Amino acid sequence: MACTDDVLIVGRGIAGAMLTEVLRSRGLRVHVFDVPRPGAASRVAAGVVNPVVLRRDVPSWRAAELLPLAARTYTAFGERHGLRVWHPTELVKLFPTPKEAEQWRRAMDDTATAPFIDQRAQPEVEAAPIAAPHGHGTVVRSAWLDVPALLDAQRAELLRDGALTEVEVAQVREEADAVHIHARSAPLMIWCNGAFGDVAGLVPVKGEGLTVRIPGLRLTRMVHRGVFLLPTPALGPEVYRVGATFKWDEVWAGATEEGRRWLLEKVARITDRLVEPLDQWAGVRPAAKDRRPLLGRITARQAVLNGLGSRGVLLAPWCAQHLAVHLFDGLALDPEVDVARG
Ligand SMILES: Cc1cc2nc3c(=O)[nH]c(=O)nc-3n(C[C@H](O)[C@H](O)[C@H](O)COP(=O)(O)OP(=O)(O)OC[C@H]3O[C@@H](n4cnc5c(N)ncnc54)[C@H](O)[C@@H]3O)c2cc1C
Repeated sequence: MACTDDVLIVGRGIAGAMLTEVLRSRGLRVHVFDVPRPGAASRVAAGVVNPVVLRRDVPSWRAAELLPLAARTYTAFGERHGLRVWHPTELVKLFPTPKEAEQWRRAMDDTATAPFIDQRAQPEVEAAPIAAPHGHGTVVRSAWLDVPALLDAQRAELLRDGALTEVEVAQVREEADAVHIHARSAPLMIWCNGAFGDVAGLVPVKGEGLTVRIPGLRLTRMVHRGVFLLPTPALGPEVYRVGATFKWDEVWAGATEEGRRWLLEKVARITDRLVEPLDQWAGVRPAAKDRRPLLGRITARQAVLNGLGSRGVLLAPWCAQHLAVHLFDGLALDPEVDVARG
């Protein structure tokens, strides 16, 4: 019997959303199944795209390759939908110690890191009520993605095209020539179910964040000291998103008082202004043991796109492209991201 589709996708966070874009642009008939489960990561992600590992001041994995692709992909998505979802912005790292200031100066001389950072003046930050006794450095090529806006725009399009079913997938039936989910069938299905996935090497890591109002801070760019403070004027004047915690146990417990206290303590190290919490959010990152994405086939007719960890926004466009050329053009998977690496 003929299949209803070419590919079935389960899960539509940023991984499933980007894979859907890539496969549909190839002219494939894609049908997506997704329900918003508590703990899903993309809906709570601040959307920060930072190409530098701020603990060590080195580029994140393949940042030089991934960042331009992410910028192109999300900008094009926005243009197609008449939206602005990709927002380039500077990220100002506040140095907590003289040692970190020195580490930054050394990183500026490193050819791999230099394209991403500098130590320009930041009059806005210098004038703000912010504690930076050891100075600051700027990540010049950072950005943030409005993840909910992207997901909502794609949802509307897929529903219009009859390409999305918002139900829980409890069962998948794999036969010799097709995979069946509810009433749909295809020669291939791809799991994009994030931390809910059952993939060898996947480690769920909980993250919590806050939305806060800080009257008088008046920042238009991101700052970072232990946590990000991301100005979010769309949510109201002087409103910021703060994130995030990292926790490896009790990952499905949702937002906690402990997480809220930890985040507020971090903000208090950035500014002594009054901080008014407005909202708290929690999700579970689909991290991999070795911090690399998990891509590839797991059975004859099932594949995965997972393991995006804490950098899903930066990684998703590249992973979606890479998996597509592997599955449909027969190119070998990069061994670093091959799910079969165990
Ligand atoms: C607090 C927090 C802050 C973060 N901040 C950032 C950030 O600033 N920048 C950044 O790049 N990354 C950030 N991350 C990480 C980022 O959220 C993840 O890398 C990314 O969202 C993972 O996307 P995903 O699509 O793999 O998983 P998810 O977003 O979890 O998507 C999986 C989807 O599959 C659905 N699903 C699962 N099982 C089924 C089923 N059986 N049937 C139907 N549907 C199913 C889920 O409901 C969900 O919709 C943050 C994470 C957290 C928790």
